[in-house]
Amino acid sequence: MAAQRFSTLDDMHDIAGKPVLVREDLNVPVHDDGSVSDDTRLRATMATLTELADAHAKVLVLAHFGRPKGHASEDLSLRPVAEALGKVLGRHIGFLASPERHAIDALANGSITVLENSRFYPGEEKNDPALVSQMAALGDFYVNDAFSTAHRAHVTTEGLAHALPAFAGRAMEAELRALEAALGDPEHPVAAVVGGAKVSTKLDVLTHLVAKVDHLIIGGGMANTFLAARGVDVGNSLCEHDLTDTANRIMDVADAASCTVHLPYDVVVAGEFAAGAENRTVNVHEVGSDEMILDIGMAAVEALSDVLKTCKTLVWNGPLGAFEIEPFDRATVALAQTAAALTREGSLVSVAGGGDTVAALNHAGAAGDFSFVSTAGGAFLEWMEGKELPGVKALET
Ligand code: ADP
Ligand code: MG
Repeated sequence: MAAQRFSTLDDMHDIAGKPVLVREDLNVPVHDDGSVSDDTRLRATMATLTELADAHAKVLVLAHFGRPKGHASEDLSLRPVAEALGKVLGRHIGFLASPERHAIDALANGSITVLENSRFYPGEEKNDPALVSQMAALGDFYVNDAFSTAHRAHVTTEGLAHALPAFAGRAMEAELRALEAALGDPEHPVAAVVGGAKVSTKLDVLTHLVAKVDHLIIGGGMANTFLAARGVDVGNSLCEHDLTDTANRIMDVADAASCTVHLPYDVVVAGEFAAGAENRTVNVHEVGSDEMILDIGMAAVEALSDVLKTCKTLVWNGPLGAFEIEPFDRATVALAQTAAALTREGSLVSVAGGGDTVAALNHAGAAGDFSFVSTAGGAFLEWMEGKELPGVKALET
């Protein structure tokens, strides 16, 4: 279990009065006027920051904002984000533009202070040892609570973990536990849903999964490439014809590993990629040359629901169709709701991630019922590829 491989806040002792550096993800989307448009990431910091503050530590929040590339710039300051964080946490949040140890020693016990954008320092993204030492001198402990930045080996995401006693924060701990339960040491049978636009962006994900899961469910635009590899004429569909050999290779590896690959046998086709476009559901062998596949069909969804009913674990990345435009959201919505219901009943552990996937699950009203939905984007995908994330590795005990 992940919990045994990482020290957590439970393992921190004697922190009252001591400065604790906490890496959080404060890279929130903002409106033109600078106000925060989605505070999901701010809410995710709550458990760790309040727990440490309530234990009377001097909590120092490290985070980046945007891409200042080593230069300070007014519009990428974390100061307004610190203010928004204060509203979310319901506490006063301090701010230090150029933190120094004597100023930190003067902070009140139990205070929370955001330090200026870590990417204002040229050394941050280079994991510069000089900056590691300079920042390590500001605190006595390091907590990493930002799984979403763990695929980067930067000073605040990786370097500091080697310079100070290092711990996983509560959000990081929850994410590691969920991911471990889904792919590290999952209960079998395991199903993976991989959808989205293109095979080329998810080759490593597919290759990693076929060796790990019992059922690989392929949907979205990438199913077209697999169908084409099987000799199906996909008409005018989004399809990477140059990757059909690769698709066949993946299916061969799956066969050898006793992983069943599920491709749709009915699909929803339309003449144009537009909301409300005239459409019909056909067998995959009946796609017209001027038609494109924009969703998988309901017969396929029924069959996939039956597969999920036999499974104990589900990991999902990528929508099954062009879910942004109705009615091509139907398969994604239906299968997401089945997964949600099975999770509610306690027969399935379900973990999902990916920018569009999270949007699709929210659209389906299913996200809240999944065991875990990762908003980590790049880090989630690298984890699905079986890569070791430097920020996570550095926390291992
Ligand atoms: P995620 O962000 O969750 O990793 P992707 O970015 O890989 O997901 O894929 C999402 C995109 O795939 C969506 O914009 C969706 O419209 C597109 N897509 C899914 N199915 C199809 C299809 N059959 N044809 C064209 N685009 C599709
Ligand atoms: Mg996407």
